[in-house]
Amino acid sequence: MQIVEKAGEDARKRSAVTTDLPNGGTFSTCDAWVPVPSASAAATFDVERVRADFPILSRQIGGHALAYLDNGASAQKPLCVIETLNRYYREHHANIHRGVHRLGEEATSAYEHARESVARFLNAASSRECVFTRGTTESVNLVAATWGRANLREGDEILLSTMEHHANIVPWQEVAAQTGAGIRVLPLLPDGSLDIEAFHKSLSPRVKLLAITHASNVLGTVNPVRELAAAAHEVGARVFVDGAQSAAHFPVDVRALDVDFFAFSSHKVCGPTGVGVLYGKAEILNAMPPYQFGGDMIRVVDFSGTTYREIPERFEAGTPSIADAIALGVALDYITSLRPGAMHHEESLLRRATDALSAIPGLRILGTASEKVAVLSFVMDKVHPLDAGTLLDADGIAVRTGHHCAMPLMKTLGLQGTIRASFAFYNTHEEVDRLAASLRRIRGMF
Ligand code: PLP
Repeated sequence: MQIVEKAGEDARKRSAVTTDLPNGGTFSTCDAWVPVPSASAAATFDVERVRADFPILSRQIGGHALAYLDNGASAQKPLCVIETLNRYYREHHANIHRGVHRLGEEATSAYEHARESVARFLNAASSRECVFTRGTTESVNLVAATWGRANLREGDEILLSTMEHHANIVPWQEVAAQTGAGIRVLPLLPDGSLDIEAFHKSLSPRVKLLAITHASNVLGTVNPVRELAAAAHEVGARVFVDGAQSAAHFPVDVRALDVDFFAFSSHKVCGPTGVGVLYGKAEILNAMPPYQFGGDMIRVVDFSGTTYREIPERFEAGTPSIADAIALGVALDYITSLRPGAMHHEESLLRRATDALSAIPGLRILGTASEKVAVLSFVMDKVHPLDAGTLLDADGIAVRTGHHCAMPLMKTLGLQGTIRASFAFYNTHEEVDRLAASLRRIRGMF
């Protein structure tokens, strides 16, 4: 680590700290917090070099090398994220948007730089359109409680799909119950893709909102959000996209998609837990009432009445998760620096896993749509998903089992649960082969 004193610049920039990143880049605190992309890592993706950025991947589990295939639930953290948290608390912490002292300015600057990283990541028109929340779940709740209560009425309809995560179902159920709006559920085709014909048929001026996942956390299906948004807008509906599973896997361009809201969670894109993002078009966010009330979101407080700040602060009441937001910005710049190599690598992992698992007798893959992220759900004859998960864990392989917070989808599939392997760019072909070998062995036990 090297301290660079830049005399003559403003207080925020006077002391920049630059650090070499394990991926060959550097990032500096205070005025940047941005990893410089490692050109070689992006062009010729070197998975072993990237894995060296993730200390946890060298763990042994029960005498086996860890094969972490539960990335859909939460991704692991690279050193640049871990070190950002560490360094923020060691050197820069103070509350933001308040103090005039040096640390307060440094923390504020880093936090607002993180917001700019988020805006770049989503290609938002302005960082003001990017609100820090606690995660996807809170982002959905925010929109349901504010936009939903202000705009939905009896007789209106909310369109959801069968493949939604509970986080993108329950808040809408709640606001529907409060406002008298109804919920209409879009069906799926046998390959796990959305029934587009049924979607078009269900559109009418009654539809006020389409709330849909960008990528299914169970089936891996990627929904054609741009096409869905264009059709929904034609009948005057707003479009909320749950990007919890897409943001980690491919670039998101909210302007090209032309969606009204987009939500994702930091912990699924290699950032810390406890923070996430709500993107909203400025004119829509500006017209929404605040979600929570208190410090930092107000302009003037008087016992005769209170006025609120502009976006995004209007939706960030109280002290936010400052360090986590800053580290999220670093995580976003880090994963962006690895693209497109990381994306091609993930595609190859999904192909290899699909081929290997399809060849196992009695194993059935759920979700075979042509557009998929690297998420593979399956069931095995005579093997309960929980047993499979426990036996895989004994081989050092971490997968998720159960309903994956998608009970309505499970009901439609006629299943209690599935086994789900979800891949990240730091997984290897060898780990896929280990998964297939373990599953063959497990199959033989029942
Ligand atoms: N939506 C989808 C598709 C998810 O996969 C998840 C988490 O698994 C969520 C929403 C909720 O995310 P969080 O728990 O980070 O708020």
